[in-house]
Amino acid sequence: MTTAAARRSLAEALAGRLAEREARAIRRQVRPLAETVGTHVQLEGRRLLQCCSNDYLGLALHPAVTRAAAEAAQAHGAGAGSARLVAGTSTLHAALEDDLARLKGTEAALVFSSGYHVNAGLLPALAADGDLILSDALNHASLIDGCRLSRAAVRVYRHADVGHLEELLRNSEHFRHRFIVTESVFAMDGDLAPLAEIVATARRHDAWTVVDEAHATGVFGPTGGGLVEQLGLTDAIDVQVGTLSKALGSLGGFVAGSRELVDWLLNAARTFVYTTATPPAVVAASRTAIRVLTTEPERRARLWSNAAKLRESLQRVGFRLAAGTSPILPVLVGEAKDAVRLADAVLERGVLVPAIRPPTVQEGTARLRVTLMATHTDADVEEAAAAFAAAGQATGLLG
Ligand code: PMP
Repeated sequence: MTTAAARRSLAEALAGRLAEREARAIRRQVRPLAETVGTHVQLEGRRLLQCCSNDYLGLALHPAVTRAAAEAAQAHGAGAGSARLVAGTSTLHAALEDDLARLKGTEAALVFSSGYHVNAGLLPALAADGDLILSDALNHASLIDGCRLSRAAVRVYRHADVGHLEELLRNSEHFRHRFIVTESVFAMDGDLAPLAEIVATARRHDAWTVVDEAHATGVFGPTGGGLVEQLGLTDAIDVQVGTLSKALGSLGGFVAGSRELVDWLLNAARTFVYTTATPPAVVAASRTAIRVLTTEPERRARLWSNAAKLRESLQRVGFRLAAGTSPILPVLVGEAKDAVRLADAVLERGVLVPAIRPPTVQEGTARLRVTLMATHTDADVEEAAAAFAAAGQATGLLG
C-alpha cells in the first residue's frame, strides 16, 4: 500500500469508528464556553446555569485565589522552566507540599501535574511483577490505567463489596505485596467506599491501602481533609491521593503519606520525574485555596445544603438518583440516547449538565451527573430543579 493510501485508510477507519459512536449516541464533542467556571457560563452567546462543575466550593473564582495566582505569575513567571528534579522545584512547591501534608495529617506530600498523573504513576512505582492489586469495579480511568501500567496482577472486586474483596485476598499469600485501591467518594456515583471495613480487611491480609480522595478533598472532614479525615482513618491508610483541580479550584494532583513513600515516588514515579513542574500561579492558587478551606468553612456547609435541597427536589418529581451521601447527584437515565435527550432538554431550559455515557460509565447506566457549587444561590437551585422537572416531562422520561 502506498503511504497516501495507508493514510487515507486510517482516516476512513477513524471516520467509521466515529460514525459507529454517533449511532450509539456516545460520540463526544468539545463545546467551547466563554467561561468555564462560576455558577453561570456562556455557550454561543447564551447565559446558562451550570450544574456540572467540580469546582465544588467556587474557589476557582475566589478573589484571594485569583489574586494569588496573578501575583505569583507576575513575580515568578508563567511557567516553572523545568522538571521538578532539575530546577523546577521552587520554595512555593515545597510550601504547598507542607500545606497538603498538614491538611491530610500525614508526614509528607508530593505534588504532581494532575490527579491523572498521580494515578498513572503511583501504582507502577509501588507495585511490580509478583504483586497483587485489588481494584474497585467503579474506580476512575486513571486508577485503571495505573493498574495496567504496573506489572502487578490485577483483580477487580465488585463495587464496594468487602466480602468479594476478602474472597479475592484469601489464598493470595504467594504475592509479595497486596494493594487495595479505591476512590473514597466515587466520581460518577457519588457513593462512599466502606473505608473502615476496607482497612480492617487490609489489616487481616497485610495489604496496603491506596485511597483516591479526588472528590472528597475540601468537601468532607472537619477541616476539608477528606473522607479519610472524617472517618478518623488517617493513620490507617497508607497512601492518600487528592487533586487540586476540583474543590481546590486550580490544577494538579498530590500524594500524601509517609516520608519514605514521598521519597520513593519522587525517585520512581515516571509521571512525576519526566514532566515539567507545576507553574507558580497554580501553586500559589492552591496554597490560598487550602487556606480558604479553614477560613471559610461556611462554603462547605453551603455546598452540602444546596446538594441536599436539589436531591430532594429531583427525587420528589420522580427522578431516580444513585443512592449517595455526597454532593454528587447522579440522575440515572439508562440508555445513552435518552441521557442525551434529557441533557438537551435541560439545556433548552437554560441549565448545563452534559450526559455521562459509556465508556465513562457502564453500558445501560448513562446519567446526568449533577453537581452544585457553594456559590449557587437558592434561586439557582430552584431554577435547576424546575428545568429538570420540565425537561423530564417534555422528554417523557418522567412518568
Ligand atoms: N481520580 C478521580 C476519582 C477523578 O474523578 C479524577 C478526575 N475526574 C481524577 C482522579 C483525575 O484528576 P485530575 O482532573 O486532577 O487529573
